[in-house]
Amino acid sequence: QAKGQGRNTWQWYAGGADEAVSERVRLRRDIQEAIERDQFELHYQPIVEAASGRLRSVEALVRWRHPERGMISPGVFIPLAEQTGQIIALGRWVLRRACRDMAALNAERASALPVAVNISPLQFRRQGFLVEVEQALADSGLPAAQLELEVTEGVLMSGAESAIALLSELRARGIRMAIDDFGTGFSSLSYLRDLPITKVKLDRAFIQDITTKSDNAAIVQGVITMAHHLGLSIVAEGVETPAQRRDLMRRGCDLLQGFLFARPMPLAELRALPACLPVA
Ligand code: C2E
Ligand code: MG
Ligand code: MG
Ligand code: MG
Repeated sequence: QAKGQGRNTWQWYAGGADEAVSERVRLRRDIQEAIERDQFELHYQPIVEAASGRLRSVEALVRWRHPERGMISPGVFIPLAEQTGQIIALGRWVLRRACRDMAALNAERASALPVAVNISPLQFRRQGFLVEVEQALADSGLPAAQLELEVTEGVLMSGAESAIALLSELRARGIRMAIDDFGTGFSSLSYLRDLPITKVKLDRAFIQDITTKSDNAAIVQGVITMAHHLGLSIVAEGVETPAQRRDLMRRGCDLLQGFLFARPMPLAELRALPACLPVA
């Protein structure tokens, strides 16, 4: 993610320092307006069983339909919103909308689909986050077991003790916890053992060249084996080819997410999706 962030930052700054500052000021004001005017949207990306393509859960991913610039990627505005603190308001909006959408969707479905929501470090560390989550569940009627929160390794490394205490509180309420982008931080495999989490999401960087780079494949195998040993489920992110799917399946990775199956989509499209996606 740092790489993508760097690229985007460079783009915004390409016009020179003064322009870069006013650009940031503009974008900051625009984010504020966008929250007030409901210009953000949530899309949902399926996570499927590797073998059958059966839909198992979805990840909520925020989208910004800017009135003049069209769709802006979260890779651009999430880092900015984190710097300005606007991620607090945006994150609350995302959480509440995701719970509401999924409560509505699940009311129509034979089996409920859990939804995963990305939580920014700032949001996670803030006083009152637990209450915010409880309120989003209560107001939407979504059962806690149908909500999963995704946090990155960094969140758990800094201020580890209070972070782990909060994880435990969330788990005690039945909310599931996933480590996102696993492998991109500096944490060791063994620390997984001590965390009250339920899922590990292997970063796309490891999946990309899994079929060509043997050292990456070895890391992936190690994480899968360790996760299973600890009773954690494991998701491979960014699966784009049938060869990657086969390789991951052979290594025992049971859950996959990626363009091979589906891109993030609006709720209406998700509603129309079959129970199993073609596995090609
Ligand atoms: P993430 O949480 O790791 O989300 C997965 C990203 O990988 C999404 O990008 C998704 O569209 C993309 N992706 C999924 N499958 C594939 C694939 O097969 N190939 C490729 N190339 N990409 C794939 P997206 O939606 O652009 O989001 C980027 C990041 O922005 C997310 O990474 C997450 O860190 C952040 N983000 C998105 N929505 C939210 C949000 O509501 N709150 C917070 N705090 N962060 C968010
Ligand atoms: Mg995520
Ligand atoms: Mg991820
Ligand atoms: Mg990622």
